[in-house]
Amino acid sequence: MPVRQRHAVVAGAGIGGLTAALALTRQGWKVTVCERAEGPTAVGAGIVLAPNALRAFDAIGFDPAPGADPGAAVAMGVRRPGGGWLNRADPAVLAARYGRAPLALHRSALTAALAAELPEGALRYGSAVTAVDTAEGHAVVRTASGDLTADAVIAADGIHSPLRRRHFPRHPGLRHAGETAWRTVLPAAAVPAGTGAAETWGRGERFGTVPLAGGGLYAYATAVVPEGYRPADVRTELLRRFGTWHHPLPALLERIDPARVLQHDLYDLAAPLPRLHDGRTAWIGDAAHAMTPNLGQGGCQAVEDAVVLAHLLARRDVPAALAAYTRARLARTDAIRVRARRAGRIAALGHPLAVAARDLALRAVPARASLRALDDLFDGFALPGRAG
Ligand SMILES: Cc1cc2nc3c(=O)[nH]c(=O)nc-3n(C[C@H](O)[C@H](O)[C@H](O)COP(=O)(O)OP(=O)(O)OC[C@H]3O[C@@H](n4cnc5c(N)ncnc54)[C@H](O)[C@@H]3O)c2cc1C
Repeated sequence: MPVRQRHAVVAGAGIGGLTAALALTRQGWKVTVCERAEGPTAVGAGIVLAPNALRAFDAIGFDPAPGADPGAAVAMGVRRPGGGWLNRADPAVLAARYGRAPLALHRSALTAALAAELPEGALRYGSAVTAVDTAEGHAVVRTASGDLTADAVIAADGIHSPLRRRHFPRHPGLRHAGETAWRTVLPAAAVPAGTGAAETWGRGERFGTVPLAGGGLYAYATAVVPEGYRPADVRTELLRRFGTWHHPLPALLERIDPARVLQHDLYDLAAPLPRLHDGRTAWIGDAAHAMTPNLGQGGCQAVEDAVVLAHLLARRDVPAALAAYTRARLARTDAIRVRARRAGRIAALGHPLAVAARDLALRAVPARASLRALDDLFDGFALPGRAG
């Protein structure tokens, strides 16, 4: 007798949702991705994929940047506003230790590459998921364009996850991290010569530059400001804050297109979810464990979640797979959420004495010890075994 093909509905076509859809498709599932937006959005920002995310992509046979120049791998390092380095690690060192060096992509290039691998018709735009009801042996997914029946539902509906709020009504939700972030992408022609990857830490302010594998530069900045703060003129604001910092930041700020600068206040989950599943639904990515971007791990953890979840769903019945998914992912993702918030507090210090002590300490840490501190993140992706 032919085996019935199992069907998953994924709510949200961000990095997490699309990765889950692809991973499940490759495990033989039928997948429908319901995205609230009317079409793909060309978000003006980059994303750094750390070695752990690249290894998770390897596990499903997906190359996020086919043909990328190996020289496009990203170095890591922290500078002072005057330009001196507090620490740095070049891509060869990172690749030797973790098998892969970080890679930075335009977000829309990554989501387009994932979507391109899905079967025709799997991705439905303008199709917000409004509720999931559990029935005998299946789930009924209510969407703006009609009901769908699914064996499993994946809530990848982002940091404000409507499904999280519906299924965990007593959870305290998000907590403002005290900072805002600006992000933009400069085309290759606008990038000042010699701009490399670095993050520069000042007093309550940071500025980062990351060359993208497909060309161009991802630039971002953060500042400690009240929630909801929006400057009247973003270039003036950024020049006021960073215009006297080391080369090439002033030149770069003159070249940004203010209309293409995104601003988002930073939040994380105020507390972990009690579990990452409920009934036949599993939460992944920001919907499950929104974290501040201080470790650059939010998207990477969404990728890990998606790959682990698909691996489990392919090998167990749905209730057993979802329980195993919570066991495999809750502790790791919550530890990273907590660590990201702590890292943010240190990076955002404002008092001159505290900043001087922080910078001294950063410079004093031997390179090997700084790298060791990344092992949990970059080496931590694993597919659960039979007992997981
Ligand atoms: C400033 C900043 C810098 C960052 N830098 C990095 C980085 O370098 N590396 C990294 O790994 N992470 C980074 N992150 C984190 C990363 O952006 C997120 O963790 C990641 O995008 C989460 O992906 P997701 O798929 O869970 O959610 P999202 O990308 O938010 O996708 C959710 C999707 O769900 C859709 N949706 C919402 N509600 C519904 C609904 N009811 N029905 C259907 N669809 C719905 C939304 O429209 C959206 O498309 C950064 C974050 C910020 C703020």
